Amino acid sequence: MQYESTRGGIDPVSSAEAIKLGIAPDGGLFVPAKKVKINDIFLQNLISMDYRERAIEILSLFLDDFSREEIAECVNSAYTADKFDNSEIAPLYILNNNVYMLELFHGPTCAFKDMALQLLPHLLVKAVRKLGEKDKIVILVATSGDTGKAALEGFKDVDGTSIIVFYPDEGVSQVQKMQMVTQEGKNVHTVAVRGNFDDTQNGVKEIFTDNELVHRMQSKGLKFSSANSINWGRLVPQIVYYFSAYCDMAAKGEIKPGDEINITVPTGNFGNILAAYYAKEMGLPVRRLICASNDNNVLTDFIKTGTYNRKREFKKTISPSMDILISSNLERLLYEVTNHNSALVRSWMESLKNTGEYTVDEETRKKISSIFWADYTDENETLNTIQCIYDEYHYLIDTHTAVGLDVYDKYVISTNDMSKTVIASTASPFKFTGSVALAVLSEDGISGRNEFELLDVLANKCGLKIPAPLKDLDKKPVLHRNVCLRTEMKVTVERLLGF
Ligand SMILES: *Cc1c(COP(=O)(O)O)cnc(C)c1O
Repeated sequence: MQYESTRGGIDPVSSAEAIKLGIAPDGGLFVPAKKVKINDIFLQNLISMDYRERAIEILSLFLDDFSREEIAECVNSAYTADKFDNSEIAPLYILNNNVYMLELFHGPTCAFKDMALQLLPHLLVKAVRKLGEKDKIVILVATSGDTGKAALEGFKDVDGTSIIVFYPDEGVSQVQKMQMVTQEGKNVHTVAVRGNFDDTQNGVKEIFTDNELVHRMQSKGLKFSSANSINWGRLVPQIVYYFSAYCDMAAKGEIKPGDEINITVPTGNFGNILAAYYAKEMGLPVRRLICASNDNNVLTDFIKTGTYNRKREFKKTISPSMDILISSNLERLLYEVTNHNSALVRSWMESLKNTGEYTVDEETRKKISSIFWADYTDENETLNTIQCIYDEYHYLIDTHTAVGLDVYDKYVISTNDMSKTVIASTASPFKFTGSVALAVLSEDGISGRNEFELLDVLANKCGLKIPAPLKDLDKKPVLHRNVCLRTEMKVTVERLLGF
């Protein structure tokens, strides 16, 4: 399988090369050159497998320059019992007759990004060796919170790599910040940027495409790569769990193989839901992909109207991992639905960069809205959803997952479609304790307590155990204190690399 750039400016490359590079040299994103299709027998065979076996089958379809043994080694190193606190890795919780919670937060950082970021470092190291590369890989990450910690955990002490994570100083929760500044490992750095996530992401993109810096790196035997969700090696592991959820539903007799389901994804950078789109395109029986946003509802407007307009106020919400106005992975969807029309995609992306907006043609808009349904949830609705779900089912969800569930409700009201639906449950409720506690405890119960104290209060009230990675986080030593302005990101990288 060859990979091509959404901007059309390069010759196709192997999957190893695409994973090593992260972003295409012409500024585009790598996508498979051909469609990958499965048949009924493939799906039938997956049903009796466990998560790791399912992952090996699906990854092999996309990464065919890796041997099956190599893929198995990567998968078996990533999804282990010492890193995931549930033996099913991505278990399905049946909320009611129609709603299935796909719990993606059982990894070392308690959010869904572990699903990809535990695997990516293994794929990357194998890809680099396969290509005969001797350079040391420097991973640069811009994070709205969860990616950063997940990438740090994935790459810590992986030979031949080092990692620098930038996060918006005011854009992450107390718990997320503590998770990052206490990170151990001899090859890890974290830097707080004075700005929002888009500033941080744009800063990292500029460093990647700074030819002068890339050249100087080369002379020192260093090479940048990305662990952001623009890396194909991040996207492909996410396809696996949608198949796995479907197979679990079939194995439990909740559906018959072939029945169509819906998938709802609380969305920010459009990576997670794009993986669901690829699963559908491969032949997983999916009726509709429901794209759930918070008050930063740029995707809702886009899917409804065909106009992407980022010229709006950036809002800080209680679902901070979705506080994004430029959803990078949307570029891949545009490339796919226009049948790989890189000239069109390039013109839209240039328009976005130059004018802050673009409008797709009517045919593209129709195609997108036949596959996706979109809406958003405000702050009050998010808290209400957490409370209602807890009251009705005694099941505790985090703020992002609540956005997904509330938008799913809106979907049902608007369409009457009662197909069984998988909701991507993207974080442990304990990761966003402040807001979750506000939803399920009285004001008295929470006033005057910080997020760390609330962990205990919440665990007691709900009869749950605090996940091990979050327990006693506030007592760990702070190991990272770097802070920089948006304009100082490049010099900070140079300093950390010892230039
Ligand atoms: C990253 C993240 C999201 C958004 O996922 P995208 O792939 O960026 O759309 C949603 N919820 C949580 C908890 C996240 O960490």
